[in-house]
Amino acid sequence: MLTSRLSLRLVRHARRSYRVLALESSCDDSCVALLEKQTPAGRPIVVDHYKSTLSSAAAGGIIPTAAQVFHNYTIGGLVDKMATTYNFDQNPPDLICVTKGPGMAGSLTASIQLAKGLALAWKVPLVGVHHMLGHLLTPQLDVDVKYPFLSLLCSGGHTMLVYSKSVGHHEVIINTMDIAVGDSLDKCAREIGFYGNQLAREMEKYIRNNPWPAETTATVTEPPIDLALGLPMKGPKYLRFPDKIEFTFASFLSRVQTTLKRHPDAIDEKQRQYMAHHIQNMAFDHIIDRINVALMIHGTNKKLCPTADGKFDGVIDIVCSGGVAANKSLRHKLSHNLKFRETLGHEPTFHFPPLDLCTDNAIMIGLAGIGQFEKLRIMSDMSMVARPKWPINELMDESWVHVDDATYDKVTKYNS
Ligand code: AMP
Ligand code: ZN
Repeated sequence: MLTSRLSLRLVRHARRSYRVLALESSCDDSCVALLEKQTPAGRPIVVDHYKSTLSSAAAGGIIPTAAQVFHNYTIGGLVDKMATTYNFDQNPPDLICVTKGPGMAGSLTASIQLAKGLALAWKVPLVGVHHMLGHLLTPQLDVDVKYPFLSLLCSGGHTMLVYSKSVGHHEVIINTMDIAVGDSLDKCAREIGFYGNQLAREMEKYIRNNPWPAETTATVTEPPIDLALGLPMKGPKYLRFPDKIEFTFASFLSRVQTTLKRHPDAIDEKQRQYMAHHIQNMAFDHIIDRINVALMIHGTNKKLCPTADGKFDGVIDIVCSGGVAANKSLRHKLSHNLKFRETLGHEPTFHFPPLDLCTDNAIMIGLAGIGQFEKLRIMSDMSMVARPKWPINELMDESWVHVDDATYDKVTKYNS
């Protein structure tokens, strides 16, 4: 399961300082990673990682109880493989990191219980990690992302724009009021005849192989089916600069379903081609449109928005992560259509993690766990339980155990 990009980073015989075993099973991926940290200021190195994904194609979506059984069945074997390969008998990891939330309760608990057992057996500290912090910090494996920065997290379970001032301080600027963009695209794709796992990804491949002709004034293409998706939350009944900015993706799905009801016969290839293109395009245009509203409200240009509060002043970096951030069309729209220069006076620097790190993985959990342990000095104890709903702005609002100097020194071994 190693990809070529990640395998380049594998370090099997590097000088050892301290090693971190990370477990992630918040949704349908069972993941285990081993990271190594050699110096206080250095970036963690990925020693190895494994991932196994539940197949939900036949079920038509992820069933939480099936995911829980899958993780209970799988995660122990992945840890055992890592333990054998890296000789944990003689040389156990120094820190265990495990996703505490958000996610599905049963899925999270499968790894949490195993992580507690390992921490007890090896007598090493345990860190319950915030899954979204993992997505936010992923680019830091390769580069320094400077605070404050913005992150667009768009996956099967989340779609949000987050403003981060430091490792422990995050504010959700836009959230979805219904379902996530990945969920919506997956379900729309299923409606128009795609089959399998991660249907939004399959739909992107299909669109690239079957592009709908771009419209110009010379060639206006008549849609082959009456699906007309507008940009949500636009129009006279909506405030241009609302108090609360939100995404909505459920309306795309219901429009697709009602259109298909009007056409009970199976759609033909041209209609599918148009629908796939139109659905993906409008969902991404909606993301761009809402981020532009946030940029105007929190930018510094009072001509564009008289009440602009300047909160985003100083933001240069934008992280785009989560499974949907792998989409090339979304990346193109973000790079070309955001009003960054107009609202903040300069162009942003985008950070798109490598495709294999955009989706859920345990590497990001190890990375975020190291951040929580070293920078925030917070860890967990044996009373840790899953927190299925856990807004990232409430990261510090937990009964954390303080990492004292003795524990820090015992784990980090930087001077040994
Ligand atoms: P995650 O929830 O982060 O594991 O990501 C899974 C979601 O990302 C699913 O909804 C996938 O269909 C979606 N996804 C993965 N790759 C792509 C892609 N290239 N384009 C659009 N969506 C994608
Ligand atoms: Zn995720």
